[in-house]
Amino acid sequence: MAHANDILLTQAPHFYDDVCSFVDQAAQYTNHDKGLLNQIKACNSVYRFQFPIRRGNSFEIIHAWRVEHSHHMSPTKGGIRYSEMVNEDEVMALAALMTYKCAIVNVPFGGAKGGIKINPKDYTVAELENITRRYTVELIKKNFIGPGIDVPAPDYGSGEREMSWIADTYLTMNPGQLDALGCVTGKPIALHGIAGRREATGRGVAYAVRECVSVAEDMKALGLTPGLAGKKVIVQGLGNVGYHTAKFLIEFGAIIVGFCEYEGAIYNPDGLDLDEVFNHRKSTGSILGYAKAKKEFKNSSEGLEQDCDVLVPAALENQITEANIANIKAKIIAEGANGPTTPAAAAEFIKQGGIIIPDMYANAGGVTVSYFEWLKNLSHVAFGRMGRRYDENSNINIMNLIESTTGTTLSLEQRLLVAKGATELELVNSGLEDTMIRSYHEIREIKMTKGIDSLRTAAFVGAVDKIAISYMNMGIWP
Ligand code: GLU
Repeated sequence: MAHANDILLTQAPHFYDDVCSFVDQAAQYTNHDKGLLNQIKACNSVYRFQFPIRRGNSFEIIHAWRVEHSHHMSPTKGGIRYSEMVNEDEVMALAALMTYKCAIVNVPFGGAKGGIKINPKDYTVAELENITRRYTVELIKKNFIGPGIDVPAPDYGSGEREMSWIADTYLTMNPGQLDALGCVTGKPIALHGIAGRREATGRGVAYAVRECVSVAEDMKALGLTPGLAGKKVIVQGLGNVGYHTAKFLIEFGAIIVGFCEYEGAIYNPDGLDLDEVFNHRKSTGSILGYAKAKKEFKNSSEGLEQDCDVLVPAALENQITEANIANIKAKIIAEGANGPTTPAAAAEFIKQGGIIIPDMYANAGGVTVSYFEWLKNLSHVAFGRMGRRYDENSNINIMNLIESTTGTTLSLEQRLLVAKGATELELVNSGLEDTMIRSYHEIREIKMTKGIDSLRTAAFVGAVDKIAISYMNMGIWP
């Protein structure tokens, strides 16, 4: 059924080929064996399956996939997408992107992705639970899930609730397996999830944008001042990634001037209030009709074309194409979603002098914090539990010593600030921030030293080099 606004739902049957062609482009800057490059690009295991569920008095067939793209590292890792638009090409492309994404942010996993071809809105919670548990059983039957094998996570259309059903099904079928909870990430905190995972992808996108605009030389070339303060941003998608990207960009000083969703887009050059817009959409079912918007568009894609410095497509793939790239006013595109810019549109944008912060880096915050969750599950202890009190006590001892030897007295606020040991959330955010900062400069450095025109190609060069080294170290390639 065609949706009122197809821009968010358009699928590219060539998505996997696009990802492979990014590798081919990057390969020109490396000297790896052609066969090895073919192995790097190939999807190692593609599991396509179907199972029936009962709906009322009849049965329905559910089509599903799990693709493990690369086993150069174990486990493989990647979300499960619940969408009626899911197809094999898409799951393969997204699994491949996970491999490169993990490599670029030094998360020691191979890439994977899952898909269940349903629109979750068409099913009751009980039906969704039934589908998710059965999907998990099918993965268990074929050894496509496990803390050391393949570890799913949330993706478009799935969240903490689905992850807890998966964890529970896996635990039930693997009694006594000590590390069983590491079989899936993105779980609720109460079920051994980790603080900060829900907002991690959006937070990571915001760090990525902040890092990009902090490079004075690059901003000068774009005619922009360095720093996020006052930068005008349009965000497409008010889901988990879009919402949190906007939230943290605002916290870092940017102004959100536009939001785009299925049903339309809104714009105000003076800025929009994120929570007001979010609550308006929640209560009315539409982004349109928000009183403080200066302009609104029934055609969502027009929203992308409004004046701004940074555009964050954080919905689905294939949103910025040859059809609309010439009208995009942003100087920077930060890909919150996977594959939102088609290769031709990206090439055009770069030719015009724009910067694309590529998906495989920009949205890697989710899998980075998933990695922390997995580590927490394997170590069976929350981050900070052992050291927090110890750090606080030694900080207090140091302060007492300073006070007694210098005769100064610290204020209560100063004492609290210095004494504080790190919480799990603070440790997670620190690890995430460090990962995003380091990776940005690693990619930019490759771009500069090799004279590459785009951050995406540079990111692929870095990723391909790391994966090639893993294969060679495994002795698979002499
Ligand atoms: N689905 C997310 C992604 O595409 C998260 C994957 C994960 O945490 O494993 O990066």
